Amino acid sequence: MIQDSSLKQKINRLIQIKENKEENIANVNISDIATEKQTKIEELRRSRLALMNILEDVEEAKKIAEKERDKTLAIITNFTDGLLVLDKENRVLIINPKAEEFLKVKKKEIVGQLISKLAQFPNCKPLIDLLKRENKKIFRRELLIKENLILEISTVLITKEKKKLETLIILHDITREKMVEKTKNEFVSIAAHQLRTPLSAIKWTMRMLLDKDLGEITEEQKNFIEKAYKSNEKMIRLINDLLDLSKIEEGRYLYEHTPCQIKNIVQSVIDYYQEIIDKKKLKIKFNTPKKKLPQVIVDKEKIKLAIQNLLDNAIKYTLSHGEIIISLKYAKKEIEFSIKDTGIGIPKDQQKRIFSKFFRTAETTKMETGGTGLGLFIAKNIIKAHKGKIWFDSLEAKGTTFYFTLPIYNRIAKKNIS
Ligand code: ADP
Repeated sequence: MIQDSSLKQKINRLIQIKENKEENIANVNISDIATEKQTKIEELRRSRLALMNILEDVEEAKKIAEKERDKTLAIITNFTDGLLVLDKENRVLIINPKAEEFLKVKKKEIVGQLISKLAQFPNCKPLIDLLKRENKKIFRRELLIKENLILEISTVLITKEKKKLETLIILHDITREKMVEKTKNEFVSIAAHQLRTPLSAIKWTMRMLLDKDLGEITEEQKNFIEKAYKSNEKMIRLINDLLDLSKIEEGRYLYEHTPCQIKNIVQSVIDYYQEIIDKKKLKIKFNTPKKKLPQVIVDKEKIKLAIQNLLDNAIKYTLSHGEIIISLKYAKKEIEFSIKDTGIGIPKDQQKRIFSKFFRTAETTKMETGGTGLGLFIAKNIIKAHKGKIWFDSLEAKGTTFYFTLPIYNRIAKKNIS
């Protein structure tokens, strides 16, 4: 019995412990789950917040991108130049209204088309031909589209990580500038022609006076007439330069090619200037190779003029007692001419513009040498038309060397290449 009751007690005790335990377990589980749930809710809330933020950012970025796109589109649409964008297969991606107007095409007809297909449109034909002809990817060319429409075509490559993505073609209307230039050239040409005759008459009258063909003159009168004669010569030179310039610019500067010895041309120019060289007490040397030089096929008069312009400069821009060395060389099927002086030199910062028309360095405009700033422009055009090269080296206050080359047995461009 005793045993029985104690067992019962024990069992009861055990049941109580078990119940307490279960109660505890149950209690623990419920609070854990609640905390976990709360954490998850919190996480979700945070994720939602983050997502909302991301969405807001995306929305913001989209708005900025749309704004930028609208801005770019507005720029492209309202751009005063024509713009054409081609993809890497040369299909038209974008064309703006100005380009539609220049090329007389409709955007919807050509977007997505290969550029070569546009040759069927008359205003596009010259552009397509130019794109075919041009072997450089980036270039700038003047192009006559039709009468009264001249465009300057420039291409730009749009690349990313060195890969070609697109090509931008810019069409800039230069018709007005060309017309103004043409009118200006015509004016210069007419004015120069009109001035040349009276200036020649003045020259010959003064020559007669100086030669005493019209009677004796006093020493004082002679000095005055000599000064007037020199000024008149300068004016004739300027008029001739202006006439050459307008012919070059209009492509009317024609070349006659005959075989000749360059050495003889150089010698005749030196002879022509010998008196001035002596008066200025300059030393002149003319170096030629021992072996006879091959003949060149050139326009003798034009090459003579180019050499004359270079020698004239060497004399003008070298102070008394200086030295001028002219040399001729033959190598690699080319004759190289050089003229070295010990003159005032050309300042580095002005060297880039030296072959531009009417350009004279600041130093020389102060000197009383009387130049037009056209001599080198004319010389450059003459050499280029003979398929030669012209360049120079110069050190301020030390001297200058001008060089040009002439290919042997070249074909001369009939027209000027400026
Ligand atoms: P210009 O009639 O003034 O001589 P050019 O076209 O022949 O015109 O030359 C342009 C300018 O280049 C000159 O005005 C001068 O400033 C500079 N120049 C040309 N040749 C020389 C030279 N040998 N030495 C120094 N400067 C020179």
